Amino acid sequence: MRGLHWFRNDLRLRDHGAILALADRVDEWAALFVFDPKLLDETLSRNRDRFLIESLASLAEELESRGVPLLTVRGVPEEVVPRIAERLRVDVVSSSEADTPYARRRDEAVRSRLESDGREMLAVRDHTVFGPEEILTKKGTAHSIYSPYRRAWWAAWAAAPRWPAPRLRLPERAIPYERSASEDSLSTLDLPTSARIGPTGGETAARRRLSRFLESRVGRYETDRDVPAVDGTARLSAHLRFGVISARKCFAVGLEHAEEHPEDRPGVEKWLDELVWREFYAAVLANRPEVTTQNFRSEYDDLAWRRDPEGFEAWCRGRTGYPIVDAGMRQLVETGWMHNRVRMIVASFLTKDLLIDWRRGARFFMDHLVDGDPASNNGGWQWAASTGTDPQPYFRIFNPSKQGERWDPDGDYVRRFVPELADVETRYLHSPWLAPTPPADYPAPIVAHDEARKRALDVYRAARGS
Ligand SMILES: Cc1cc2nc3c(=O)[nH]c(=O)nc-3n(C[C@H](O)[C@H](O)[C@H](O)COP(=O)(O)OP(=O)(O)OC[C@H]3O[C@@H](n4cnc5c(N)ncnc54)[C@H](O)[C@@H]3O)c2cc1C
Repeated sequence: MRGLHWFRNDLRLRDHGAILALADRVDEWAALFVFDPKLLDETLSRNRDRFLIESLASLAEELESRGVPLLTVRGVPEEVVPRIAERLRVDVVSSSEADTPYARRRDEAVRSRLESDGREMLAVRDHTVFGPEEILTKKGTAHSIYSPYRRAWWAAWAAAPRWPAPRLRLPERAIPYERSASEDSLSTLDLPTSARIGPTGGETAARRRLSRFLESRVGRYETDRDVPAVDGTARLSAHLRFGVISARKCFAVGLEHAEEHPEDRPGVEKWLDELVWREFYAAVLANRPEVTTQNFRSEYDDLAWRRDPEGFEAWCRGRTGYPIVDAGMRQLVETGWMHNRVRMIVASFLTKDLLIDWRRGARFFMDHLVDGDPASNNGGWQWAASTGTDPQPYFRIFNPSKQGERWDPDGDYVRRFVPELADVETRYLHSPWLAPTPPADYPAPIVAHDEARKRALDVYRAARGS
């Protein structure tokens, strides 16, 4: 039997559910990645492009070393996948299941073309440890609140842990095949020439990063994770987003580390619970794909969002006059990543202080984040806007100056990304307009937080009809 694996957001060889399933069925195989113009043109994130290309290059190298060329083709998947399957005369095409509305439509179209050609499509859910239909409430419905989901998740793990596959296993042989020039678009793609700022792509880099995090930082994760000036988190979100490392591997290695280093257990458990958030949001998207464009809670559907083009522009450019917000937005645009605490603060500022629709903020994040992931990004935005599954209550509105004072007390993070504030005394750093001589080249606040807070409360209450 012959198989073809169509890689998407699963750019690894180890602990790979679909490839393992393919290896059970076929003895000859080939590997394909399709550069879908729809997805390529949609993202403005050069950091994410770079990460994707690096991860593909690393995958291609490892495949080549095992005699399997990675075919990389530009084109519409509905056309390319059946065409290559036909050319290689494969019986089965494997892939890892995806959940966005676009991916579901695309996969359905590919499946139907393959089936009408007499081929099988083997889709394996592998992006998370447990699938959306596996962690349900006692009534058998999807969870809409994180805490009970987390309890159910860990109960499922305790009952039947999902350890990663112990060793690399691939189908026996490559299908003998010469690539044509159009099937090797990887070598014609240019890596962005700007200096690297984001994480290095590829499976080896991911595994190294995971070990380093566990060896040196997880012990302090509980406290350091909220401090944006400290490099206290794993920075594996892009690797998880592109499936360069499996979530199962992260859980397994984390739990093993906690066994060997009991002093690190609280940090490991907190970290694994963050990974459970990722599973939760993936399940929400799978069960309710419409959340990508709609409020999870319909009571906010009539919320009177403001258009405010100047406010939106100031937020995007990191020129709101609130230092922690501006530092976050500049970190995002300059590096393609933003600290989680700061993501929460800037999202709250946009949706509550400026009353701008969360969809515009989520879009901007997706355009810039190296880890931009439809499920986690949507979950984070709807949480901040109080429209989501398990949201920040609408009346709890972050005060950006107080958040800055609390999480960046020495101002190291703000000074790193907002050089105009480098010389401001620390006690004025998060409210520079109060300094005896405010810095001339830094904007005054675009809204007064106290007034903006009252306005947001009125608008949210009106939407709820209370
Ligand atoms: C408004 C907003 C937008 C976000 N957009 C994204 C996004 O597009 N992609 C993305 O991967 N994460 C997103 N997050 C979640 C979180 O900010 C990032 O996962 C985290 O900052 C990544 O850094 P890390 O890998 O060092 O995280 P760690 O602290 O090391 O956490 C480990 C892993 O757990 C997962 N995780 C951590 N926090 C969350 C969370 N709140 N929700 C879901 N998963 C989580 C990530 O996969 C992360 O890599 C968003 C959060 C907010 C508030």
